[in-house]
Amino acid sequence: MTLVGVLGGGQLGRMLALAGYPLGLRFRFLDPAPDAPAGHLADHAAIDYAEEDGLKRFAAGLTAITYEFENVPVAAARLLERHAPVYPPPAALEVAQDRLAEKTFFQRLGAATPPFAPVDSPSDLAAAVERIGLPAVLKTRRLGYDGKGQRVLREAADVAPAWAALGGAPLILEGFIPFEREVSIVAARGRAGQSAFYPLVENHHRDGMLRLSLAPAPGLTPTLQAAAEQIAGRAMQALDYVGVLAIELFQVKGLGTWDLGLEHTQAPSPKPQAPPLLVNEMAPRVHNSGHWTIEGAETSQFEQHLRAILGLPLGPTAPRGHSAMVNLIGALPDPAAILAVPGAHLHLYGKAPRAGRKLGHVTVRVDTRGELEERLAQVQDLIATKEYSWVMPPV
Ligand code: AMP
Repeated sequence: MTLVGVLGGGQLGRMLALAGYPLGLRFRFLDPAPDAPAGHLADHAAIDYAEEDGLKRFAAGLTAITYEFENVPVAAARLLERHAPVYPPPAALEVAQDRLAEKTFFQRLGAATPPFAPVDSPSDLAAAVERIGLPAVLKTRRLGYDGKGQRVLREAADVAPAWAALGGAPLILEGFIPFEREVSIVAARGRAGQSAFYPLVENHHRDGMLRLSLAPAPGLTPTLQAAAEQIAGRAMQALDYVGVLAIELFQVKGLGTWDLGLEHTQAPSPKPQAPPLLVNEMAPRVHNSGHWTIEGAETSQFEQHLRAILGLPLGPTAPRGHSAMVNLIGALPDPAAILAVPGAHLHLYGKAPRAGRKLGHVTVRVDTRGELEERLAQVQDLIATKEYSWVMPPV
């Protein structure tokens, strides 16, 4: 019996289990929350990551251990490594948990990032603002997600209140990138070092949270795809990565001239042919912008991750037509109405509704872009808050 241990029992873990059951896999989850969504499907140890004895009991009999949540304490992942292989490697967790380490890592790989500077004091902040310029974004280095722990500084008067709100924890100041759009790449690397890449996806955020993904990204060119694959490929190789990795990127205009209005950039001076992509962050796990792959690709990101960590062959990543994924945040639409839309697939995570909480998602998968526009509009109309109202750009 192949028993996979998963650190974190949220919706990502739940969807990993749903993808693993057809392959005959069993799962055991570790999540301190007693009502973790994955607990509805599999064994769930509701223990804390600091409980060493609990971790040992959790690890007993596991074939491999993975995580679905990047804030798993690295010490817990390293302790578990003594009992079973842990993939992705804990070193990837370490990089992803600290925005400063992460941006430094990508710059060393030769990938461009927004300009950045570490900030640990009001004088650091003043110096960083001086060097990077405004607008800029002040972020906590650790434990930020879905836009939490961030302040945009538009003018000098925003600096002191931002320090008052976030100061105390280690921070990073980043130049505010006037991006054309946000895209992400979901990639995978197997135990033998083979890799696979899904097509780039276009992402729409509001209030720092992902609302909508379009897959493949409209207007995706082979050059843009190759540029993203190069960044992901280098990152996976450098980390000796195993599993699915997601990288969020800002696509910017005119990188030929690097016209970002960033005079004080810390980014390596880009060559004229530099790809128009800046790395925002990485997630060493399956990712919300990859949910469309469940219906929209030959192999879902969840199955791909399991294949990778178990040393199985990676699956094909080709898209099946066109997909759009809409997150259900805070409140749920009428399930019957969503299911009445042809091509719409509903995923509910078994979580109690609460403002700002990801409760589920809907993927619309169809064969043509015209159909996608029509069906997506129908789904958006059914989502009570209408917060997804969005107009499809021309091809
Ligand atoms: P993050 O938690 O870093 O992914 O930030 C959440 C969202 O805030 C991103 O998806 C962007 O929409 C926005 N954002 C973050 N950093 C920057 C930046 N340096 N420039 C412009 N927008 C940003």
